[in-house]
Amino acid sequence: MKNTEAQRLHEITDLSHEFGSPDFVCGGGGNTSVKSETTLWVKPSGTTLAGLSPDLFVALDRGRLARLYEIASPDRPARREALIKETMAAALLPGQTRRPSVEAPLHDSLGARFVVHTHPALVNGMTCAKDGRAACRRLFPEALWMDYVDPGYTLCIAVRDRIERFRAEQGRQPAVIFLKNHGVFVAADTPQEIRELYAMIADRLSAEYAGANCSTALDIPPRPPHLDLETCRGLIRQAFAEDTLCVAASGLFPVAEGPLSPDHIVYAKSYPLKDRPSPQAVADYRQRYGYPPQILVWDGVVCGLGASEKKAALALQLAQNGALVRQLAEAFGGVDYMTEQARLFIEGWEVESYRSSQIE
Ligand SMILES: [Zn+2]
Repeated sequence: MKNTEAQRLHEITDLSHEFGSPDFVCGGGGNTSVKSETTLWVKPSGTTLAGLSPDLFVALDRGRLARLYEIASPDRPARREALIKETMAAALLPGQTRRPSVEAPLHDSLGARFVVHTHPALVNGMTCAKDGRAACRRLFPEALWMDYVDPGYTLCIAVRDRIERFRAEQGRQPAVIFLKNHGVFVAADTPQEIRELYAMIADRLSAEYAGANCSTALDIPPRPPHLDLETCRGLIRQAFAEDTLCVAASGLFPVAEGPLSPDHIVYAKSYPLKDRPSPQAVADYRQRYGYPPQILVWDGVVCGLGASEKKAALALQLAQNGALVRQLAEAFGGVDYMTEQARLFIEGWEVESYRSSQIE
């Protein structure tokens, strides 16, 4: 490997760690990349930004990856996603065993050397708000706003199209792309510029939240004394008839009432169960959505559930993140949940369930 390549892989690793904290992403959310003329190194699917090292990045041949943009898009989503996987697999350079992030073609479409894509609550307060688009135009006139598009191939093609139009109008590619109900892409040729762009985004949004009297911290009161973790776990295991189910619990906060972003759905499901845990309440929820709940809210507690302690804690973390996003969205006309169609796409998306299954 050439020296400059090694140096750049170190730089993108540093950026991944810096923007891999809970302020920017939860679980395996977000992705980063660095590129040369011919190669794209991107975060593998099923890894976390904070856990990346230079050797983990997946190397793709950009020429072969570009074949994706020539394919006529099949109508059926399943066929479409299968096609993107095949083409991405064919673009892997020799010796690559990991699966590249599904957002790899989007990283390739941005010409800048470094791309850091995250889902900060600070940003999603705007992207998950009713007036998000108007606010974006006012606060970030130099950025690109994307209305909601299903992630994967569809998103990549839609963003490429918008980047082209942006370039035709402004003579340059956008450095910042906000995605409705999702997050932000930041692209620049140096790590320093990436940091400055993120700082600029945080400064402008923080000033806006302060002006709207909107706290950027979520206030979580203590759990009521009669509902300690042991008691919650007992009630939940009984209601689910599963004696190994793991539980994370916190005091009550205003849980989001619907799906905010793909990550919220993947790690905590689209809707909480707001009822005291009982076999009937769980059965009713399952009947309605086709899967068991992962967030339970009752009597002054919020519980995250999962097959492991890590998954339960992550579900609760997403619920808290969602509550903060909901709180921040008040500065921009109130929260705007994902549509039913968008929700169903994520719930049925194999790539996302792959990612969720990577969290042990
Ligand atoms: Zn994303």
